[in-house]
Amino acid sequence: MKFEAIAVENIPLIHTGDDLPSIICKNLELQDRDIVIIASTIVAKAEGEIFRLEDITPGKTALEMAARNGKDARFIQAVLSRSMEVLVEKPFMLVTTLAGHTCVNAGVDESNIEDGFLLYPPENPDASASRLGNNLEKLSKKKLSVIVTDTNGRAFKIGQTGAAIGIYKIKPVKRWIGEKDLFGKVLEVTEEAVADELAGAANLLMGEGAGGTPVVVIRGFDYYCEEETYIKEMYRPEELDIIKKGLRCLQN
Ligand code: GDP
Ligand code: MN
Ligand code: MN
Ligand code: MN
Repeated sequence: MKFEAIAVENIPLIHTGDDLPSIICKNLELQDRDIVIIASTIVAKAEGEIFRLEDITPGKTALEMAARNGKDARFIQAVLSRSMEVLVEKPFMLVTTLAGHTCVNAGVDESNIEDGFLLYPPENPDASASRLGNNLEKLSKKKLSVIVTDTNGRAFKIGQTGAAIGIYKIKPVKRWIGEKDLFGKVLEVTEEAVADELAGAANLLMGEGAGGTPVVVIRGFDYYCEEETYIKEMYRPEELDIIKKGLRCLQN
């Protein structure tokens, strides 16, 4: 068994309104059932989610948090404006975004953008993935999956990895429940986070710095799914999320 990961070359600096599917198709001939993995940074740039730090006016909550935590109130305001819930305030802001993704700083990013600017995450990454996927399929006339990724930290372990935040035509979780192990025992709980694993593999070629490689195609890993799929299938239901419950207890 094997699959390939191919970094798409010659992607320019992305600006508001840029047509990412055209840029991608110009630089790589896509094949049926390719999985096109796109860093949220360039999706956000193309969608115009670029803000000048000095233009952000912090509200009351942001000012209070800034006074408590010694951070820039404008940055806190940016994070709050994309957050549904703040789970940890200090020493970093761990939030659940409006789209339901739990991560540090709501994905608001100061890296790979000009000084003085902030990049907000795509507002609805599933919708972004669908739009990009539809247009990529039209241009290439191929059946494709898309994953929009960000770099996220994880609880318990040092080191960030690529994570899926929006998907198109790919099942995010593979259920092993009911399958047998080597000894015929039936698996009872295992669900594999395939979308995150693919995002992690792609992130190896993307890197985090000046590589200029925000798009990676995974070829030969057959995981195409004809139906609509949603990233929220990966988010643990509230009532089962004991870590979130614990964090809320610590805050009160
Ligand atoms: P994130 O994980 O979505 O926050 O994206 P990163 O900031 O980690 O960047 C991932 C990759 O995309 C790195 O190789 C960056 O150099 C590259 N990158 C970021 N913005 C651009 C851009 O506008 N054009 C190109 N060609 N590469 C970019
Ligand atoms: Mn970044
Ligand atoms: Mn990021
Ligand atoms: Mn990254």
